[in-house]
Amino acid sequence: MAQARHFAGGKLVLASHNPGKVREIAELLARWGTEIISAGDLGLPEPVEDGQTFAANAEIKALAAATAANLPALADDSGLCVTALGNDPGVFSARWAGNAKDFTVAMEKVEAALDQAAKSGNPDRSAHFACALTLAWPDGHTETFEGRVDGAMIWPMRGELGFGYDPVFVPDGYELSFAEMEPAAKHAMSHRARAFEKLVAACFQRED
Ligand code: IMP
Repeated sequence: MAQARHFAGGKLVLASHNPGKVREIAELLARWGTEIISAGDLGLPEPVEDGQTFAANAEIKALAAATAANLPALADDSGLCVTALGNDPGVFSARWAGNAKDFTVAMEKVEAALDQAAKSGNPDRSAHFACALTLAWPDGHTETFEGRVDGAMIWPMRGELGFGYDPVFVPDGYELSFAEMEPAAKHAMSHRARAFEKLVAACFQRED
C-alpha cells in the first residue's frame, strides 16, 4: 500500500459544525500541537452530505472545507448503526434528530423502532458506532480512516456527558453508557478514537 501523505503541521480546519464532535476531535488532537480552526469559526457553509457511506460523507465535508479555506481540513462522519434496524439510523443519525437537532427525539425514535422489532420477533439490541475520518488537502488529495465500537442499546437513557446518542449506548464489556463515562474513558475506546489512532499513525507520526 502506498504511504499516506503526512500532515506537515500548522493550521488545520475541523470541517464540522457539531460542537460535540469539534470538542472531542480537539481533545484527541491536543497532543500534536496543531492549530485548530473550526469550519463554523471560518463561516464555511455546510456541504450537502449525500454519500451512501460514512467514508463518502467524510470525504465530501473534508474536501469542501479544504478547498474553501485553502488549508488542510479534517472531517468526521459518524453515526449509530442498530443491527435490528438494518443498521439505521447509520448515515442518517443526525437527521433522525430533526431540524431542531433534538437527540432525545432521535433516541425515542430508535427505541420505538426497537420495540416494534422486538414485537415482530427480533429482540436483538446490539449496535455499533462507526466513524470515518478524512484528512483532505486543497489540492484534492484525501486520506480516510475508519473505526467502530460494538455495544448494546439501553433504555431509558443514562448519563449527562458526551453528545448525540451517548445516553443509550453501552459498549461491550462495560456497564456505563457513553454519557456516563468521563471523556478520557470514552476516548480510550470510541469509534472516533479508533479511527483517530489510524489517522495519527499514518499522517501525524513521523519516522524521522
Ligand atoms: P454527522 O456525522 O455530522 O452526519 O452526524 C452524525 C451523528 O451521529 C451525530 O450528530 C451524533 O448524533 C451521532 N454520533 C456520532 N458519533 C457519536 C458519538 O460518539 N456519540 C453519540 N452520538 C454520535
